[in-house]
Amino acid sequence: MTTVKSETKEFQAEVKQLLDIVIHSLYTEKEIFLRELISNSADALEKMRHEQLTAEDIFDKDAPLQISISFDEEAKTLTITDSGIGMTRDEMERNLGTIAHSGSKKFFTELAENARKDVNLIGQFGVGFYAAFMVANKVTVQSRSAQPDAEGCEWISEGAGNYTLSQCDGLHRGTKIILELSEDNHEFASEFEIKRIIKQYSNFVSFPINIGGEAVNTVDALWAKSKSDIKDEDYTEFYKFISNAMDEPLTHLHFAADAPLAIKSLLFIPKDNFETLGFGRMDPGVSLYCRKVLIEQDSPNILPEWLRFVKGIVDSEDLPLNISRQSLQDNALVAKLSKIITSRLLKHLGKLATKDPETYATIWKTFGIFLKEGATSDYMHRDAIAKLLRFESSKSEPGQQIPLAEYVERMGEEQKEIYYINGPSRKAIESGPYLEAFKKNDIEVIYTMEPIDDFVFSHMGEFDGKKLVSADRADIKLPESDEKEDSQPEDKLDSAVADTLIKWMKDSLGDKVKEVIASNRLVGSPAIIVNPDSMFTSSMERIMSATNQDHQASVKNLEINISHPLIKGLADMRTRDADFAKAVAEQIYDNALIQAGLMVEPRNMVDRSYEILARALK
Ligand code: ADP
Repeated sequence: MTTVKSETKEFQAEVKQLLDIVIHSLYTEKEIFLRELISNSADALEKMRHEQLTAEDIFDKDAPLQISISFDEEAKTLTITDSGIGMTRDEMERNLGTIAHSGSKKFFTELAENARKDVNLIGQFGVGFYAAFMVANKVTVQSRSAQPDAEGCEWISEGAGNYTLSQCDGLHRGTKIILELSEDNHEFASEFEIKRIIKQYSNFVSFPINIGGEAVNTVDALWAKSKSDIKDEDYTEFYKFISNAMDEPLTHLHFAADAPLAIKSLLFIPKDNFETLGFGRMDPGVSLYCRKVLIEQDSPNILPEWLRFVKGIVDSEDLPLNISRQSLQDNALVAKLSKIITSRLLKHLGKLATKDPETYATIWKTFGIFLKEGATSDYMHRDAIAKLLRFESSKSEPGQQIPLAEYVERMGEEQKEIYYINGPSRKAIESGPYLEAFKKNDIEVIYTMEPIDDFVFSHMGEFDGKKLVSADRADIKLPESDEKEDSQPEDKLDSAVADTLIKWMKDSLGDKVKEVIASNRLVGSPAIIVNPDSMFTSSMERIMSATNQDHQASVKNLEINISHPLIKGLADMRTRDADFAKAVAEQIYDNALIQAGLMVEPRNMVDRSYEILARALK
C-alpha cells in the first residue's frame, strides 16, 4: 500500500468544541461509540443498496453488503469495516472535519446547553462519528468511494486540533475505521464485550454485522414479520434501536394492509416529550422503506408534522424504489399512504383510550399538545383528533379529564351547544363569575386550562354537530332548568331604574365598553365581562397581548347583576354623589376585567380603590 500526498488540516471550531466535550465530559455510556459507528456504516450500506438499484457503474459492484468487526486484543485495537458507499477525499474532509450535517449542528447546540445538566441524554442523540474519540486516542479511517474513478484516502487524527489526509491505494469499496483504544478503554478490544454491545444497541441493523465470519445481529426486518412471531421484548428492543432511546415505548402499532396500498408498518409512541423537556423542535421520526430498502430516513412526508413525536417504520412495496426525495413531497401515493397511516394511528389511540385508559391518559398528558396542534392544523383528521382530546369539566372530578363525547352524552335535550371556559386553574375558573348561570341551570362546562385550548376550539368550531361556545360570549342563551321556575322571585331593581342606571354606566365608562346590559346569567357576582365578538374570547385576547405588545383588546360588553346589592346601591349613590358612583362603576368594570383574566392598568385602579376604601372607613 502506498501512501502519498499527505496533508494536515485543522478541525472546524465547532468540531474542536464537540471533541472537547466528547473527550472530557462524557464518561457514562461510552459503549455507545459502537452504535454510532455501526449506524454510520449501516447508513452507508443503505445508500449503497439504493445506488445499486439505479447506478450502472459502481466500484467493487459485487461486494456483499455487510459490516465486519475485528480486534487485536494484544495491540488493543478495534476495526469496523463496511462495504458501503464510502467517501472520496473531499467527502472525508467535509464529513470528518466539519459539522456539516444540520442534524449534528442542531445536536451540538442542544448538547452544549444540556449535556452538562444530564449526560444520560446523550444517548438520545448520539454524537456521531466523533464518539470514536470517547474510547480511542487515535482514529484511522480508510475509505474508497463507490464512484468508479475515485481514489482511496486515509484520515488520521488523535482528536486534538487537527487530522491528516493521505492518498491510500488498494482499498476495497467502503470504509474501515481503526480505533487505537485509550488505556482505560481496553475492555472494548474483547469479542465478548463487543457482541454484548451489538446485541444491546445494534441488533436490528439491516445488514449482517460479522465477527469472525458470523453474523451477530438479527438481520430480519421486524416490521415485515407476522405479529404472532414477535415477542413484546422484541418490539421494545426494536424501538430502542430505531429511536436511540433508553426507555420503553408507551404503545406500539404494528399493522399490515394489502388494499388500497400494500403497507407494513410499525409505529411507536415514546415515553418522553423532548420538546417540553427544553430541546428544540423535534424532527420527524418515521422512516420510509420499500421492500425493506430504505427510501427516506426520518421522512417528513409520511406522517403530518404534528405527529413528529411518533417513531417507526413504514414500508410500502407500491412505492417506486427509485423515487427521489423531491418527488416524495408531492407524490399522490405518498399522500395516500400518509392518510392511511395517520387514520390507523388515530384509531389505535382511540381503542387504547377505551382498553387501557391509564396508558392513554399518560399519552395525553405527554403528547396532548401535539394532538391539539393537529386539531388546529390538520383539517383532514380533525374529527378523529377531536375524539382524542381530553379536558376537565364542571362535572368531572378534579384532575380527571373527559372526552368531549362524554360531555355530549350528558347534555340535556334542549341543550344545543357545548360550553367551555378558559382559566389558569380549576379553582380560578370555579371561583369566577362565568360559571354561575351554568351552575344555576345545571349545564356542564368544559374547563380549558391551556392557552392554546381556545384556539383549538375556535378552529374546530363544533364537535359531533354541536357548536363549541365560549362561556364568556355575550350572546349565550342557556336552556333553563326546571328548578329555575320554582325559585323565589328575585329582588331586582325596578326596570325603569335599571334602564337609567345602565345608560348612566355606559356614559360613565364611555368607549371602554361596547354595551352595558342587565345580565340574566349572574347569581352572586355584581358584574361580568362578556365578548360580543366570538372571535375574541378573553383567553385568546390574553395570548394576543402576550405575543404582541401593541395588541389593542377588542371592546367588550359589561353585564351587570341588577339583583346584586352593590349594583342596587350604585343606582342609589348615582343620584346622591355622581363622582363617587363613577369611581365605583369604574372599579366594578376593572374587577370584572381581572376576573376575565384581562389586563387592567394597575396604577389608576389601585389609586381608585384606595379612595373608595378611605371613604368606606370614614
Ligand atoms: P451523521 O451520521 O449525523 O451525519 P457523523 O459525524 O456520524 O454524522 O458522520 C458525518 C458524515 O460522515 C456522515 O453523514 C457520512 O456522510 C460520513 N460517514 C461517516 N461514517 C461513514 C461510513 N462508514 N461510510 C460512509 N460515510 C460515512
